[in-house]
Amino acid sequence: MTLSQGRHYLAIPGPSVVPDRVLQAMHRPAPNIYEGELVELTETVIQDLKSVGRTQHDVAIYIANGHGAWEAAIANTHSRGDRVLVLATGLFGLGWAEIARRLGVECRIVDFGRSSDIDVTQVEAELAADGTREFKSVLMVHTDTSTGVRNDVAAVRAALDRTGHPAILMVDCIASLACDRFEMDAWGADVMVAGSQKGLMTPPGMAFVYFGPRADGSRDRADCVSAYWDWRPRVKPKEFYQHFGGTAPTHHLFGLRAALDMIVDEGIENVWARHERLARAIWEAFDAWATDGPMRLNIDCPGKRSCAVTSVRIGAPHGVRLRRWLTDNLGVTLGIGLGMDEPDDPEGKGFFRLGHMGHVNAHMILGLLGTIEAGLVTLGIPHGKDALAAAARICAEGEAS
Ligand SMILES: *Cc1c(COP(=O)(O)O)cnc(C)c1O
Repeated sequence: MTLSQGRHYLAIPGPSVVPDRVLQAMHRPAPNIYEGELVELTETVIQDLKSVGRTQHDVAIYIANGHGAWEAAIANTHSRGDRVLVLATGLFGLGWAEIARRLGVECRIVDFGRSSDIDVTQVEAELAADGTREFKSVLMVHTDTSTGVRNDVAAVRAALDRTGHPAILMVDCIASLACDRFEMDAWGADVMVAGSQKGLMTPPGMAFVYFGPRADGSRDRADCVSAYWDWRPRVKPKEFYQHFGGTAPTHHLFGLRAALDMIVDEGIENVWARHERLARAIWEAFDAWATDGPMRLNIDCPGKRSCAVTSVRIGAPHGVRLRRWLTDNLGVTLGIGLGMDEPDDPEGKGFFRLGHMGHVNAHMILGLLGTIEAGLVTLGIPHGKDALAAAARICAEGEAS
């Protein structure tokens, strides 16, 4: 006998839980791709994508995953031999740098390690030292999904402004969009990349590259760009198919429309507030568990933690044992530790991650925490008491009427 029957809960940081409303919107015959409903729906999707990204600028859509968005963003703004400054706070910043490098772009990587955010003083020093203004762009990840850190985008913009450096600011919001507050225009990002399968609650397969006028100016000179990745026909198509460089991702568009309806109905401020409250419930539980035993949140400072993903250190081999036991016995799958290998734990068996992005509510998070507690008890992993009560109190805050 196991308790894993019923709806399985994939609590990994992407793909996230897909709402029934999104699945149902996708369950239909293919539409005409030349005229009618799909053409009109695409325009509304673009408008709502812009409002979720808090921008008046453009957004190009690609049939791709996040890696595709990374490549599209670099290709449209760089030439072979360009230099860029990469601010790495985990695996994903390094991953974006690798994509850039393979396109022939030279990366100066400043690595802030695996449990810190970007140190803006250091960024400012890097920019000030670049006297000949070699850096064409600064690449950063808003929420790094491997470490769970959330970086301050506006602060990096301010460092660029203080040093008068002309590099464009490019931000990866693949994990954070519609989870952690992000304001593209107010914070001064020139490029922002996102994907469908995290906060946007739609299956993987659509990628978004948002860009402002300064980034589009870089496009004039960029020789990395190819016909397929070119963002210009995608945002100003003469024919509908040019939005997508070919056949539209028909069913993804229906799904995404439903997901955006849910976000618009709830209100983006409420979406962010919900993620914040649920994340605090998770942190409270882990703080309680951490009072006894090996479990620790990877990011110490609550103000630097993402509200979309949490990375936890529990010590090898407990991370693997806990994940395996929960999947086999309780119907919950936690995320693997990613990029967190250490000399005495080369496979990162001492880490796990929780995805809490998109379609999540209090009973899912409290259930998730309850299954982790069951795992700790069964596997004999020492832990502090009253974690679930602490999380429940956060969920109950201010809800009395
Ligand atoms: C998921 C993720 C990616 C990669 O997206 P894929 O769809 O797996 O290619 C990149 N950056 C961040 C921050 C992510 O969370």
